Amino acid sequence: MSRPAVFLDRDGTIVEECGYLDRLDRLTLFPWTVDAVRLLKRARFATVVITNQAAVGRGIIDEAFVHTVHREIDKRLEGTGASIDRYFYCPHFAESKIERYRQMCRCRKPGPGMIEQACQELDLDLSRSFVVGDRWLDVACARAAGTGAILVRSGPERQDPPEGVRADAIFENLMEAVGWILRSSSQL
Ligand SMILES: [Mg+2]
Ligand SMILES: [Zn+2]
Repeated sequence: MSRPAVFLDRDGTIVEECGYLDRLDRLTLFPWTVDAVRLLKRARFATVVITNQAAVGRGIIDEAFVHTVHREIDKRLEGTGASIDRYFYCPHFAESKIERYRQMCRCRKPGPGMIEQACQELDLDLSRSFVVGDRWLDVACARAAGTGAILVRSGPERQDPPEGVRADAIFENLMEAVGWILRSSSQL
């Protein structure tokens, strides 16, 4: 049976936003991340990170470093009961000097491409799934893919939503968002 997923934005949602994360010593999980992800796993949600990494297309970091960061997150979750099932990232940047990254892609949020890719690789029920992110583009991505949309205020974005983009709920951080997801999912 297909299972629901929570698609987690990375920077500003599970780890502190620090501009471009280009060194491992700048990687800081929020204090609630481990507990929040553990609760999702216990409730049998697939946990999938979806992150725009235009720093790759901009030539600031390379893809190997993106994988290094994700391995480091895995390491910090090891033995806690929390885990990330899959990581998807978009390395593209429309004005990239590096040809293979220079494209208007479907995977860059707010596009739904990373969620579509996750659905091909994991057996997911999008109608019972959610995106949690700190930017309106995460909310717009959820809408494009047909999942629930939760905005968290743990990142720097304070802009008003773009015309027509509305979140199902807005919380201070991922832990509060997870509490809401678990409560609303138990009512389904
Ligand atoms: Mg973010
Ligand atoms: Zn892309």
